Amino acid sequence: MSTSQKSGLVITAHPGDFVWRAGGAIALHTKRGYRMKIVCLSFGERGESQFAWKKAGVSLADVKAGRREEAQRAAEILGSEIEFFDCGDYPLRPTPEMLDRTVDIYRDWKPSFVLTHALEDPYNFDHPVAAHFAQEARVIAQAAGHKPDPTRAYSAPSVFLFEPHQPEQCNFKPQVILNIDEVWETKYKAFQVLAAQKHLWEYYHRVALNRGMQGGRNSGTAMTYGEAYQRLFPEALQVLA
Ligand SMILES: [Zn+2]
Repeated sequence: MSTSQKSGLVITAHPGDFVWRAGGAIALHTKRGYRMKIVCLSFGERGESQFAWKKAGVSLADVKAGRREEAQRAAEILGSEIEFFDCGDYPLRPTPEMLDRTVDIYRDWKPSFVLTHALEDPYNFDHPVAAHFAQEARVIAQAAGHKPDPTRAYSAPSVFLFEPHQPEQCNFKPQVILNIDEVWETKYKAFQVLAAQKHLWEYYHRVALNRGMQGGRNSGTAMTYGEAYQRLFPEALQVLA
């Protein structure tokens, strides 16, 4: 990997999440020359594959294989690498080895930003676990005493929390609205790979339209499709505008 190439990291509990919530950011930054990587903690095999389980006689292994294939295809459409941890969902329980691997990814990739789940989600306990995991790995990666290497330069990336399914219940405030007009078609193409969650295609189309309208209102520049994020840390500036 070229050291001058910028990169971005996405840490997601299930495959659908990186598509609905961050597909625009992934496609946009890929288009801008960033190298993007998704860490997909589980296949969403138990909790986010309702349609797949309607098939008579289907096994857990079948559902996982199907969702893996979908996630791989969606990541390819968005232009991102993807690494699967297969830690299971409902409940999501990442192991210490997975945490260690993620710390190494932060250090190797030196991403400019990380996208992950909101800190709360009373509808889905996997999502805050994934957010906690992403934050913990980010903080350990900057600990000089963890696998010490005095030659290594590393600073923790900006964190953006992506929009949960029901933002109000998750105490999610959209502080950043990313204009995804130029990659909307790509994001929607990735939606269509997720056959197991077909009921959400139109829902997330409407979410993007609403955020786009709000993005236009808040920026004074027309925006049709938007993707909302919440920042976790203050932005340090030299001047305000
Ligand atoms: Zn999810």
